Amino acid sequence: MDDSKRPTLRAPAALLAEGLIDADARAAIERVAERYAIAITPDVLDAIDRADPADPIARQYVPTAAELETTPEERADPIGDDSHAPVKGVVHRYPDRALLKPTHACAVYCRFCFRRETVGHGGEALDPAALDAAIGHIAATPAIREVILTGGDPLVLSPRRLRDLIERLSAIEHVDWLRVHTRVPVADSGRVTPELVEALKAGKTIWVAVHVNHARELTPAALAACAKLVDAGIPLVSQTVLLKGVNDDADTLDTLFRALVKNRIKPYYLHHGDLAPGTSHFRTTLDDGRALMRTLRGRLSGLAQPTYVLDIPGGTGKIPVQPDWFDADGRPISPLKV
Ligand SMILES: *Cc1c(COP(=O)(O)O)cnc(C)c1O
Repeated sequence: MDDSKRPTLRAPAALLAEGLIDADARAAIERVAERYAIAITPDVLDAIDRADPADPIARQYVPTAAELETTPEERADPIGDDSHAPVKGVVHRYPDRALLKPTHACAVYCRFCFRRETVGHGGEALDPAALDAAIGHIAATPAIREVILTGGDPLVLSPRRLRDLIERLSAIEHVDWLRVHTRVPVADSGRVTPELVEALKAGKTIWVAVHVNHARELTPAALAACAKLVDAGIPLVSQTVLLKGVNDDADTLDTLFRALVKNRIKPYYLHHGDLAPGTSHFRTTLDDGRALMRTLRGRLSGLAQPTYVLDIPGGTGKIPVQPDWFDADGRPISPLKV
């Protein structure tokens, strides 16, 4: 069916009608929906395997009652965005690069999102005055060499607004390149139109980081959208969140990272799950992640290896998490034997 005629599912009643949740779960899901936004696009709906009760795609997008359980270590602002926001919409934690969040809306809402307390739920876009102030701050801060558009998902902006933003940022002399973090090519591929691609190319060099967690998200439509960007000369990297029950095994990650490289997308980061509220059912341990990275090192091209990173709670920043490569006696461990 023509996707433009199919609605994005947002209400628990719509999830029930599609058979994505059970009738007896509805009351709990209504409570989840009061707190966290829900959106499942036709692309995502098509990728869900209804026959699999543990489907890794459904698990990422279909709300569950487990989200109502917040553990003591979880926090509304897990990586300390707020404490590094010099003006509204900007997060400046590392000297040479800053985040600009032009919108808090996304095409889809991931159940594990670390910004789940701020995305969705109305009032999404920065108003023109706030956007002016944000761009003004970047223009007045020569240390900022890279602007990373994130949010929300910047690719839900209209191509006209995106082009305007990219042109304004590109006019700042000390900004060398731009980057966009997005789930749109994978989750709402119809938005990747020729107009959107042209908008992305309207300024300085732009890199696109696509968020993808499972190879089955790379449907023909998703891959076609990514190919449009790469064919237009836009370099693509990926970011993946390590998620229990979605991709926390070596075979799943192996398949995903190979598929990305094959489709001209360089695996960039594998993120350890952040301490976002109501996400403990997704979190693995750091030791699980390190063991996975050690296994992958032995069997996967270096091109297909992302850096496994932990964002330290509170705003200290991202650090790479490395497996141990030496045994207790200090002898190197061959990755081929683990
Ligand atoms: C993740 C992040 C970045 C980008 O970090 P890279 O390592 O360059 O990908 C920049 N600023 C903030 C605040 C971030 O959280």
